[in-house]
This record gives sequence, C-alpha cells and structure tokens, in this order.
Amino acid sequence: MSDKAFNPFAMAQQQFDKAADFLNLDSGTRELLREPMREFAFLIPVRMDDGKVKVFRGFRVQHNDSRGPCKGGIRFHPQETVDTVRALAMWMTWKCSVVDIPLGGGKGGVICDPHNLSEREQEQICRGWIRQMVRNVGPFTDVPAPDVMTSGQHMLWMLDEYEKIRGERYPGMITGKPVGMGGSLGRTEATGYGVVYTVREALREMGIKPENTTASFQGFGNVSQYALLLYQQIGGKPICVSCWDQKDQVSYTFRKKEGIDVKVLMGITDRFGGIDKGKAKDLGYEILPGEAWIEQDVDILFPCAIEHQITDANVGKIGKNVKIIAEGANGPTTPEADKVIQQRGIFVVPDFLANAGGVTCSYFEQVQCNMNYYWEKDEVLGKLDVKMTSAFLAVSELARQRKLYMRDAAYIISVSRVAQACKDRGWV
Ligand code: GLU
Repeated sequence: MSDKAFNPFAMAQQQFDKAADFLNLDSGTRELLREPMREFAFLIPVRMDDGKVKVFRGFRVQHNDSRGPCKGGIRFHPQETVDTVRALAMWMTWKCSVVDIPLGGGKGGVICDPHNLSEREQEQICRGWIRQMVRNVGPFTDVPAPDVMTSGQHMLWMLDEYEKIRGERYPGMITGKPVGMGGSLGRTEATGYGVVYTVREALREMGIKPENTTASFQGFGNVSQYALLLYQQIGGKPICVSCWDQKDQVSYTFRKKEGIDVKVLMGITDRFGGIDKGKAKDLGYEILPGEAWIEQDVDILFPCAIEHQITDANVGKIGKNVKIIAEGANGPTTPEADKVIQQRGIFVVPDFLANAGGVTCSYFEQVQCNMNYYWEKDEVLGKLDVKMTSAFLAVSELARQRKLYMRDAAYIISVSRVAQACKDRGWV
C-alpha cells in the first residue's frame, strides 16, 4: 500500500487468471469473475469537532454473490484505494468459498485515519457510510464486518443507523458486533485462532510438534494478538513481533529470544496495535527495525498486518530455517515473492484460507442472530475449528495429490465452486 506502483487488484487478477487457466474456465466465466459485479463510490460529509466540514471518500465493492449475500469488512485507512477494496472483495469471494459457507465476497473502505479522529467523528463516518449504502447492504444482500482499524463499536453505530432508517431491527445486517448486542462469543478471537488451527494441521502433516517451533509475527492488531495467544497455548515459542509506530511513522520489531509475553505486550499496546516502545524497552525487549521480523531464524512466519509486505525486495531475507508461512493478513505476498517462496519449498497457508476464521465466525454470528439464540464460546470455537480444519485438509490433500503449491490448490477449490454456482444459476 505504501508503494504507489503496487496495485493489489492487478495482483488479485493475476492470481485468479492462473486458477482460471488451470480450470480451463470459459471466457464468459473468466470475464465475470475477474471483475467485481457491483461497485459503489461516494462521499461522506462530516462536521468535525472544530466545527468545519470534512468530506471523506467511501467505497463498497461487491465482487460476486452467486453463493450467497456478499460478505466482507470495512477498512478505515489513510491510503485506501478503490483498487485495494476491489482486490479485497475478490479475495472475500474465494475466502467464503474455500471454507464452504453460503456467502459471496464484498469489501468496503473509507479513506481516513482513525488515529486522528475523535470517537464522535468516527461515529459520523460510520453513520454517513450507511446513509449512502442503506439500499445496497442488508442480511440478504451484503453483510459488512470489521477490518483494519474498525471494531465492534463501528459496526454497532452502522447497525443503529441502518435500523433507524429502516424502522426495524436487522441484527443479521452486519457482523462483528459487540457481544450482548447481537455479536457472537469467539468473534474477536476467531481470525487469529483460525490461522493457528491451520498451522497446527500443517505441523501435524509435517510431523513437527508445535512445542519444538519458534515463530515471528508481523502486526499486533486483532488477528496477530489472538494468533499469538493460541500459538503459545499449543506450545509454540514466538520470539518477536513487529508493529507500526504512529508517532515515528515507521515499524519496529520487538524481540525477546526467550519468548515474548503476549499478554504483557497487550497491556502496553494502543487500540490500533501499536506497542509502547519505552515500556517495551523497560521490559527487556530488543527494539529492531520493522523489517527484522522477516529475517529471524524461526520455523514459522506469521504476516498478520496488511497487504504487500513480502515482496521482491525482502523475500531473499527470509530466515533459512523457515518452514511455514501462515498469512493472517490479506494479500501480504506479491506474486514475484511467491515464486521465490515456492522454489524454496516453504509451506504456505495462503491468506484467504489462513484468515478465513473471521468470516466463518461472522457466518455463525448471522446464524445465531437469525435464531435469536446465542451459543456458548466453546461451541462457537469448536465449530470454527471443524470448519477451518476441514478446509485446510481439502486444500492440502489437493496440493499433495496434484503436486500443487498450496495457494494454487486453494484457488482451484474456491474458484471452481464459485464458477459452478454461476453456471448453476444460469449466469454463464
Ligand atoms: N474483515 C475480515 C476478513 O477480511 C472478516 C470479514 C467478515 O467477517 O465478514 O476476512
């Protein structure tokens, strides 16, 4: 995202084209699936706390809804672009398909930086986003959720605005809501835990015990925090984590070779996942440059921040003992870097499989909302584990049988299901 020349949508299309070639898709299906079906771009005027009006730019992209209503998060990010949202919407289609839930793919965004916005200003952006999209989102059309720099509170403001306008309650209109307000237990943990369920299975297939592994994490937001906690619980030793420093406008890597203490770090972290440098130093952490996370001599890399992080420029620095890369973020690896990783024989759990736990739990949230009956946390996490594990096993089995790279196997399963749905509906 920082690199202007990088276009995530071009990357998503390149990945899709590879799968389409493999599946020998006809030209109509290709044309339909390599672009979003619908797009919305709009302005959100907000009266700021200083009394002046500021106009924010918002998006929603609905890539494909052949398998069910569109589903996907809304990001707040200063460098958001429509092409980023397009790529993310397409990846959501493949994500819902790979875990076989009856939902399509969508994504939304607002160009803004919540670091510099008050709660009230953020609330106004959320409400304004809904006023623009009210006719085109809903439990049976398109269901938003949290993403980078948005939370349950943002979802609740959006739901409230939607319900005010519609004059009825629509708990299934949005997911990732706070627990007690239509949210599901386990939703906060779901994405990070899901990443680790897939890593646990990958390690099992490789005959490696989690307690004999070390790992390095990029990002310390929601996904990374819960992936770290579960990775530690299954016996793994995380030795470092990198995160963005808002004040210095660079990333740092926080390292403790004897193993980082995730809960203590969470206690000195802001709501955007920024770790307090001074406090970390006092706790005995080494503070290294942001890039250092990728160079560590570990078994597993967990890129859990944003897209475009493992590129031509740093893929050569990946530690020589790395055996697994589990992509908690969406689109962290560019196709050029991917080739190098594949040649090195590193086992990749690709993004839309590794991080599908969030949307899977969102689907459970919708199911619970529809029943108006909420499950215990163990039940949610148990069902999540089953879904993630079976999706992982299906992809890894195909990869083994056909001697495919994991990313290609995941694409083939996902794209073929969506192509079939379009065909069955008579669209293509
Ligand atoms: N934003 C998350 C993702 O990228 C979750 C989407 C959802 O729950 O709908 O997968």
